Amino acid sequence: LFLTFEGIDGSGKSTQARMLHAALCERGHDAILTREPGGSPGAEEIRSLVLEGDPDRWSAETELLLFTAARRDHLERTILPALSAGQIVICDRFADSTRMYQGLSRGDLRAKVDQLHSLMIGHEPDLTLLIDMDPDTGLGRALSRKGHEERFEDFGPDLQRRMRAGFLALAREFAPRFRVIDGARDIDSVAAEVREIVLDHLA
Ligand code: C5P
Repeated sequence: LFLTFEGIDGSGKSTQARMLHAALCERGHDAILTREPGGSPGAEEIRSLVLEGDPDRWSAETELLLFTAARRDHLERTILPALSAGQIVICDRFADSTRMYQGLSRGDLRAKVDQLHSLMIGHEPDLTLLIDMDPDTGLGRALSRKGHEERFEDFGPDLQRRMRAGFLALAREFAPRFRVIDGARDIDSVAAEVREIVLDHLA
């Protein structure tokens, strides 16, 4: 089973991914937790290339190629081997983030994102949990996080609002795969809903 978490920065998806991983392991499931960009040694190197340093170092197109290369490595080295071994894979962000961030936020590259995806990736999650969150709340949470390595400074409130709307549109586009979860509630309530959805899916 391949599960992904998606959402805008500060939505709490990484916390929820960790809590779901712990809950599944506690119940005796064999699950791994991984993330994008990154999730394999090579992909983590690409993550640093893209997210650290000068944000204008790469064009939007080159950035898309780097994210796709990272995803390919992550898929080959981490995700597919784990799925073949019968493990549950929980991934914090996957191709939907590229549909949003590279496809929408830095120009209109969605068609190229889709072409590259079918050419080089070709896998979709079985289930995607979209942690939906009001952008202002998300922004506040993300900015208050200490040591945030990301180029979050570029991602002001307007972009956050576009990203939220974009993720909700994506959830409709890929409807059967997506579940939209209200992330504005307290962490434990969100975690309980996530757990219920996933355990239902496993049953
Ligand atoms: O989810 P996480 O906080 O690790 O994401 C790291 C940063 O990379 C975030 O600022 C996110 O918006 C950005 N990102 C991106 N394109 C992706 C995935 C993440 O620009 N495909």
